[in-house]
Amino acid sequence: MKEIFRIAIDGPSGAGKSTIAKGVASELRIDYIDTGAMYRAVGYKMKQRGIGVDDRDALLRMLEETTIDFVKGDIILDGQVVNDKIRTSEISKMASACSALPEVRSKLVDIQREMGTRKSVIMDGRDIGTNVLKDAEYKFFLTASAEERASRRHKELLEKGETISFEEVLADIKQRDYNDTNRKLNPLRKAEDAIELDTTGLTIEEVTANVLKEIR
Ligand code: C5P
Repeated sequence: MKEIFRIAIDGPSGAGKSTIAKGVASELRIDYIDTGAMYRAVGYKMKQRGIGVDDRDALLRMLEETTIDFVKGDIILDGQVVNDKIRTSEISKMASACSALPEVRSKLVDIQREMGTRKSVIMDGRDIGTNVLKDAEYKFFLTASAEERASRRHKELLEKGETISFEEVLADIKQRDYNDTNRKLNPLRKAEDAIELDTTGLTIEEVTANVLKEIR
């Protein structure tokens, strides 16, 4: 294994990217960067400030005074930990909407590339293998059926106390899949050199083991 290496994990919402990436990161003792959380943080701040996706001037001003970082697994937006605040179904929609804006993508992609330069990282998202870390040493594309992904997300939201039906979560997942794969800028797709893993019916341990087997 090289001294510094990058692992890219892409795939649709709810395919298990972050759970797997966290497990692999701790096994290999490298940093995990959750790029979806960064889009969520921007979506959250836009919501807080009442800035709509069409208000480009206000958005640009907001981005200029926004800092996003990860410290010991926490996502820090402008100096504050926002881990839980960004994991609601409302912020999922904001994140998906703001991720189509070129101003937002260019700012976040710059930060992500910078994070992947000096140390080994595992980064998950939608465009890591195709754009952010095109030359990553290892690339994976995780998939699972929309129903299985919706059922995982539904369980998570219920555990957090949200009242939302399975049908609503499934419709949200399908809408986000559509938005992510059809947007003009860096849409979700498998990099040619990525290994595709369908996680439907597999346990977290099984998928993590499959990923580690390819790396070691
Ligand atoms: O992965 P997660 O569901 O937290 O991502 C939130 C949203 O951020 C996604 O719906 C997607 O639209 C966007 N995203 C993106 N590019 C990434 C990571 C996430 O566009 N690299």
